[in-house]
Amino acid sequence: MGNTVFYQETAARVDKALKYCDDTKAVVLGEQTLGQVGSFFNNLFPGKRAIVVADATTFELAGKRTLQELQAAGISTDEPYIYNEPDMHAEMRLVDVLKPILANTDAIAVAVGSGTVNDLCKYTSSLFERPYMVVGTAASMDGYASFGASIEYNECKQTFSCPAPRGILIDMDVVCKAPVKMNAAGFADLIAKIPAGADWILADLIGTEPIDHIAWSLVQDSLRDWVSDPLGVANCDRKALTFLTEGLIMSGLAMQKAKTSRTASGAEHQFSHLWDNQHHKFNGEAPSHGFKVGVGTVATSALYEKILGSWSEATFDAAIAAIPRNFRKWETIESELTHNFGNSGLYETVKRECRKKYVEPDELKRRLLLFKDSWPELKARLTKQLMPPLEIQKIIRLSTAPSTPEEIGIERARLQKSYSLAQQLRYRYNCLDWVRDMGLWEETVTPLFQPGGFWG
Ligand SMILES: [Zn+2]
Repeated sequence: MGNTVFYQETAARVDKALKYCDDTKAVVLGEQTLGQVGSFFNNLFPGKRAIVVADATTFELAGKRTLQELQAAGISTDEPYIYNEPDMHAEMRLVDVLKPILANTDAIAVAVGSGTVNDLCKYTSSLFERPYMVVGTAASMDGYASFGASIEYNECKQTFSCPAPRGILIDMDVVCKAPVKMNAAGFADLIAKIPAGADWILADLIGTEPIDHIAWSLVQDSLRDWVSDPLGVANCDRKALTFLTEGLIMSGLAMQKAKTSRTASGAEHQFSHLWDNQHHKFNGEAPSHGFKVGVGTVATSALYEKILGSWSEATFDAAIAAIPRNFRKWETIESELTHNFGNSGLYETVKRECRKKYVEPDELKRRLLLFKDSWPELKARLTKQLMPPLEIQKIIRLSTAPSTPEEIGIERARLQKSYSLAQQLRYRYNCLDWVRDMGLWEETVTPLFQPGGFWG
């Protein structure tokens, strides 16, 4: 097996994080761990029945073996439920399919799969106030350990509140067999925590969402190590994939600790949510969450580079002096929202979120003064937190995930428009809000698309 010390290091970090979590009680991550699934289940759910839930692919990959191991451990099992859907994604229709199955049994769902199967089991189990566990099959997103399930309902992708799994078991022999593009998507979802951290620093400074230092550490302390071997991810190197899986699980555990997804998501995720809700497809299918987040990560990193390279204390002075001229009244924002989202199912949501983050000129001035007064330190802190966009783009590319908008079917003009739409999507304060608050949208975002600009 060679050098496998990293498994112990990973387990130690995960065990430490579990102490802060209300929902998840156990995580097993290592090689040949499928053989432990029976005792894992028995420890978490003594005396209970189990029902394996999978899709056709994940059942072959790990579901069959999971079922055998559960039975070998003396656990009573229901007939497994195997989704048989082409191009399956998490949508309410598939929750409605699973609901009567769980209603007719008291068995604990053992989700065998990644994002979709996990979200469907997570949400459907919560409808019966029943815990569940997951056997992860790919390092494709950070939703294994997070609470809440992302499910399409009424043509909008929405996050439904529900607890995280009681237990997570991942066998690296299974993850290594997952398609490279799935693990690359997880890699992009993980590297997104770099600009997401910068966004949280901004929100902390103005006081809208203070940093939870324990949750911050769970994600940020090892982040550079977890994303240090993109080629290893592409080549299914055990250590690289284990670090990636650990990082994705830790991101979810940090969300449980902080009780917010702020720990793992900033403006880069808003690009992805926007494209989700525009039902964006490329070559007939929706690009994966991680692929969209990866492009969003390059987009916000490019914006940060522009900000840090061009703003100074004088910029804040000028922005404060220009508040009376630049201030955007609620009526202006509202009519923009009607124009941008009036025909979409998102309208009520964006109106609520934008209203929540709308501030009067006095509060705006207070914020800009705060930015100005903390500028040299803030600039240093953001510079340390961030990676230059070219570097982050190169790393994402090495993992084989898309690093340009065109690779997911988004042309430049649409990307430019997406910066402004993404800003209006959510209350969560980020670099896009910062540029709006400064009244410097045209001076900061537009040049990114001009000759010599990052996207020019
Ligand atoms: Zn994500």
